[in-house]
Amino acid sequence: MSMFGQVHVSDNKYRLKGDFHHLTPNMPIRNADDGWALMGVTNPRDMTYIHSYGAEAVFFESLGQGKLMASRCDNKKCESKGSIYMPFRIFCPDCLVKNTVIDLTDVARKTARVHTFMVCERSGAFSLLDKPIKFINIEFDGVVTILMSYLSMGEPEIGMSVVPIFKTQDPTYTILDLSWVPSGTDEKKLPEGFSF
Ligand SMILES: [Zn+2]
Repeated sequence: MSMFGQVHVSDNKYRLKGDFHHLTPNMPIRNADDGWALMGVTNPRDMTYIHSYGAEAVFFESLGQGKLMASRCDNKKCESKGSIYMPFRIFCPDCLVKNTVIDLTDVARKTARVHTFMVCERSGAFSLLDKPIKFINIEFDGVVTILMSYLSMGEPEIGMSVVPIFKTQDPTYTILDLSWVPSGTDEKKLPEGFSF
């Protein structure tokens, strides 16, 4: 059994198993320039956070299955009817009616291109991406929003055509299961666990 807490839902309730926090002994902080006098203590803390996806769960589940899901407002009374959102929005921001989930994978394969990008040589704590991280903002035909993601291979350029890749092997069920490569990339060269 994993040392980390595990969660499943039954009867509409979270069911927890295992440890959700660990108490680790503290350690003294001492001053080397003052005879190692006590200055304080470290307080190691480790906890498992329960992050609920709600109605976005279908988006994350689909990434591991090689599909990119978007959402669309189908409310006849909405001025923005037909607007397609990627990133996935559960509700239409204009009429607040629940959007329809649609499969955007083919549109992404055919029309995704870099709107703009930034290359980060450093990252924040807990980032799992290799540096430098090539963040790209992606636009799609017929989509009213722009998606932030990351380019796994090649160098980003404004307007370049990119295609989605998905971590279908051992998915993490997070946004890291989606990445992008330049159009025409050989499938054999994709990062481990990813496929088109
Ligand atoms: Zn709407």
